[in-house]
Formats: sequence, structure tokens, C-alpha cells
Amino acid sequence: MADRDQFKLKSALREVANNIRGQFILTGNQNLIIANVTSEEKKNISLILKQYGVMPGEISGLRQNSIACVALPTCGLAFAEAERYLPSLVSEIETILAQNNLLKEEIVIRMTGCPNGCGRPYLAEIGFVGKSEGHYNLYLGGNFIGTRLNTLYKETLTEAEILSELQPIIADYAQNRDLGEKLGDFVIRKQYVKETIKGSDFRH
Ligand code: SF4
Repeated sequence: MADRDQFKLKSALREVANNIRGQFILTGNQNLIIANVTSEEKKNISLILKQYGVMPGEISGLRQNSIACVALPTCGLAFAEAERYLPSLVSEIETILAQNNLLKEEIVIRMTGCPNGCGRPYLAEIGFVGKSEGHYNLYLGGNFIGTRLNTLYKETLTEAEILSELQPIIADYAQNRDLGEKLGDFVIRKQYVKETIKGSDFRH
């Protein structure tokens, strides 16, 4: 937890903790739930969060569901950037999502700096694993709730290659998805990747 520029998450949560009776619950998907609060307290929490610039509803569904491991410079095992790089890659993908009216669509995206997978990229709908500086393997086809492994789609991509691979898939998704169909399910139905049914089938 940290305060960054106008997004003062640490200060906001400290104020919530000091003023509201409730419980903080951290989930495996990196969500924070403030539980067991009354309706009145919920209103006060919303006001506190807004005051500190924490407005999750105003960021894209992709960014809301993004996770990266620490990678460089913290982890000595990293081959590539993750935590410091994923936000800017998400911005580039958001441009494609905006062109396809999908900015509010919740999509799970994760990145790690090496195959050890501390940020659980193998369960993401769009997963990246660092191969070398500026190069990533791209995985597709995890499900939104994190109960299906994804599948290796393309290897050792630069940012430009990542964006040109994702652009037609996102456009196809915007035009041809079924009602309520998540991206991870769509790429399997449209045979971009094969579904990973059991762990021993996982391709990486
Ligand atoms: S996935 Fe690799 S680079 Fe990222 S924290 Fe784990 S060991 Fe380090």
C-alpha cells in the first residue's frame, strides 16, 4: 500500500481503519473488501476514498483486474519488468479497448518478470511472463474467476507485437462475443487457444 500522486490509497485506508468499524479482507485476486459495515458507514467510506483520490469505479475494468509481481529491481530472479511496466502497457491496451467500446469490461490481466509466476499470470485471461528485457510470452484463455489455467499463445513479444496481437482479438471480441461472455472464454470458443482442462495439459 502506498500513496502515489493524487491516488493516496494508504492514507485513505488508514482513515477508514481509524473511523469505521468493519473488517479488511484481502483476497487472492488482490482485491480489498471492507466488510461488515452499515449502509451509513458505507457512505462515509465512499466519501473518505473520494477525498483521497481512490475511485475504483472510474478506472477501466482492465486496470481494476491487473496484477504484477515486483520483478525489477526488487527481485533478483526477474528477466524483465512487471510492476513498473504493466500500468503503461495497460494504458496502451486501454486505447484499443476504448476504440471497441470495452473500457468498462472487466478483464483479468497479469504480468510477472519470470516464469516462477508469483503474480499468478497463468490464471489470467491475458497473461504475460517476462523472457528478457522488453520481451514477454503471451498467454490467453484463463477464466475470469481464476479456476482455469490459460495457454501459451505467442512467445517473446515486444510491446508493439503484443499490441498488434491483441488488437484483432479485442475487435473480434467486441463484435462477436455472446451476451455476458468473458474474454477468456471467448478466445477458447473462437479457437485462438485450446482450453486447458487439467494441469498436466498446461502448455508453457
Ligand atoms: S515471478 Fe519471478 S520476477 Fe516475479 S517476483 Fe516471482 S520470482 Fe521474482
